[in-house]
Amino acid sequence: MRWSFRIARVSGIDVRVHVTFALAVILFALNFAAPQGARGAAFGVLLVCALFAFLTLHELGHSLVAQRLGVSVTEILLLPIGGVARLANEPRKPQHELLIALSGPFVNVIIALLLLLVLDHYRIPLDANEFVSLADPSPLGLVRALFWGNVVLAAFNLLPALPMDGGRVFRALLSLSLGRSRATGIAAAVGQVIAIALIAIAFKKDWGPLALVGMFVFVGAAQERAAVRASELLSELRAGEVCDANAVVFAPQEQLGHVLDTLIRSPQAHFAVFYGKDLVGTLGREQVLASAPRVGLDAPLSSLMRRDFFAVDAGTPLDEVRRRLLELAGRPVVVRSLTGYAGVLGFEDLQRITIVAERLAQAGIRRPQAVPDPALH
Ligand SMILES: [Zn+2]
Repeated sequence: MRWSFRIARVSGIDVRVHVTFALAVILFALNFAAPQGARGAAFGVLLVCALFAFLTLHELGHSLVAQRLGVSVTEILLLPIGGVARLANEPRKPQHELLIALSGPFVNVIIALLLLLVLDHYRIPLDANEFVSLADPSPLGLVRALFWGNVVLAAFNLLPALPMDGGRVFRALLSLSLGRSRATGIAAAVGQVIAIALIAIAFKKDWGPLALVGMFVFVGAAQERAAVRASELLSELRAGEVCDANAVVFAPQEQLGHVLDTLIRSPQAHFAVFYGKDLVGTLGREQVLASAPRVGLDAPLSSLMRRDFFAVDAGTPLDEVRRRLLELAGRPVVVRSLTGYAGVLGFEDLQRITIVAERLAQAGIRRPQAVPDPALH
């Protein structure tokens, strides 16, 4: 995401924080400075930083369990309204989604229990009102605030509102008997009802951040629904069926200027590069545009092309291709049929195909007609 910077790297996952986090720090500092002066401000900064550290542990909980279950995690992003662990692909089994969703809140439950032991040791009362009263900027006051912070993090994330953790748990449980598509439909609808309730509460009580969370949940639920619908549509098509037999290809010695002319004229986002009959690399529009000013128009495209490419079989379902593309982060896949090269597919192609397939499905039309390619059978 733009305007975010890396603060750590754990188990191969970048932990990034968005610049708006600085706003949260300033807000907490001001909030506590009003009644307590400099000491209060320091308390506020410590509190918000510690809460974000626990939020990071929450996201790491999701991420490490996901990795163990074979789901790769691209990054963890921390925003003032919460964290997101971005998974490169969806867990396939409902049981896996359940475990991944529960592992985040589980981390906060454990931390809350540990902090409870500390509070119990010093016989500090657990008065929930103290968490927001700003009255006690002492170390034990901080422990108590962090205890409640973790309780809130766990409880709030377990609301059964997709795309929050509780919503994922809810969907996973429904998926066991209803299938993923219907389960997502129901969980997304419930999520949106809860989102509207959160926004209503936020307006009534004048809590700005809660309204933001409500909107985030509302939009997120719609996105989840669209993503499942897209992967359903894509699963019905095979890679070999959607490759364009007339796609433009290049040769390694062609000059960049010529490639730029083609970029203006062709809607293709990715191109295959052939040396004679041999596929030797791929070239992406974005890659060419980014490098053109640096290498000049006379440079041969062999200096830019990617020589390592990932190939899939023509019979691979497109939802599987989509998963691969997410892992490849911007690079295309090469589709191979039994007779050899069939085409190159990138993310842009899948977006276009999803839109077309959706319209065709609405009209009850199945296209393209099965290609008589032995690799598909
Ligand atoms: Zn979570």
